[in-house]
Amino acid sequence: MVETKKIHDLIIIGSGPAGLTAAIYAARAKLHPIIISGPNPGGQLVKTTYIENWPGDQTILGADLMERIKNHALHFGATFINQSVTSVDFSTKPFKVWAGNNQTPALLANSIIIATGAKPKLLNCPGEEQYWSKGVSTCATCDGALYSEKQIVIVGGGDTAMEDALFLTRFNNQITIVQIGEKLTASQIMQDRVLSKPQIKIIYHSTIQEILGNNQHVTGVIIKNLKTNITQPLPANAVFLAIGLKPMSDLFASHLETDHYGHILVTNQTHSNIPGIFIAGDVCDNKYRQAITAAGFGCMAALDAERYLGMQKGS
Ligand SMILES: Cc1cc2nc3c(=O)[nH]c(=O)nc-3n(C[C@H](O)[C@H](O)[C@H](O)COP(=O)(O)OP(=O)(O)OC[C@H]3O[C@@H](n4cnc5c(N)ncnc54)[C@H](O)[C@@H]3O)c2cc1C
Repeated sequence: MVETKKIHDLIIIGSGPAGLTAAIYAARAKLHPIIISGPNPGGQLVKTTYIENWPGDQTILGADLMERIKNHALHFGATFINQSVTSVDFSTKPFKVWAGNNQTPALLANSIIIATGAKPKLLNCPGEEQYWSKGVSTCATCDGALYSEKQIVIVGGGDTAMEDALFLTRFNNQITIVQIGEKLTASQIMQDRVLSKPQIKIIYHSTIQEILGNNQHVTGVIIKNLKTNITQPLPANAVFLAIGLKPMSDLFASHLETDHYGHILVTNQTHSNIPGIFIAGDVCDNKYRQAITAAGFGCMAALDAERYLGMQKGS
């Protein structure tokens, strides 16, 4: 049971790689952190299968990795609350955080780490959920190496889609980009690079109507031309969605500065515009978006919170 009248040193919001790494560092530094796990305990990795780029583990299930990191934080004394934050008040100190519902008393803290991550945007078409991690992915950097000499569909027309397409050509794949608009929206240099690759084909004015499979894995897609309404099947072994990510920052929007997409703006790696509130992971990172980088940000945020609290206490 977490005390509501006590002013805690540190509350960490989110239990993905960023929040859990922050928890290990903070617990080891005797800050007795409270971690509010949120709607997706363990974060995005729990929803994928094998991770092949976590240092020290050639291959590990995402859910197993996150369980290990959580146990590591528990070992050093971190306390977990299996609820979601519903509102916050950062206007005065101590900071107030409501979890579960707004009827219960707020948790009070001298410092906060926000590590609420991001949610990839989805197509919401038939087959997408069924073949999630069985050919459907939102992370080419993560899952691309699983496909070589295959037929790949990439959905999107921005820089991420172009980067994904170029990355996936390294494995001798045949790639089809499906773009909803009449042209690509990526930077010209990225477009030029993609257009120079004969193994990449682009279909415009179109979307994916359905993802097909054999119950084990993706086998194809149905592409719909939104101008003519004509549909066509296309064989595919994998579908990478590159249609954007939504940083989970809405709860904090009235207090913290964000960019156009909703990433919380930071200075000095982890500092928000309010002293004592630190940010880590995909909720502020629009560039790297990897488990190891999120964990790195979590480490930095915990060290910065520790320094901030030390200065407040004059130690
Ligand atoms: C399909 C897929 C495969 C991937 N594969 C790899 C890979 O192989 N290797 C790799 O390095 N990276 C991979 N990634 C990327 C990696 O998962 C992310 O970069 C990483 O998880 C970001 O960590 P995070 O802690 O910032 O956020 P997240 O993992 O997104 O965690 C966010 C946390 O915040 C919590 N939260 C959200 N809202 C609230 C709230 N209101 N109150 C409390 N908590 C809240 C959630 O419950 C969650 O615990 C993959 C991503 C996807 C989608």
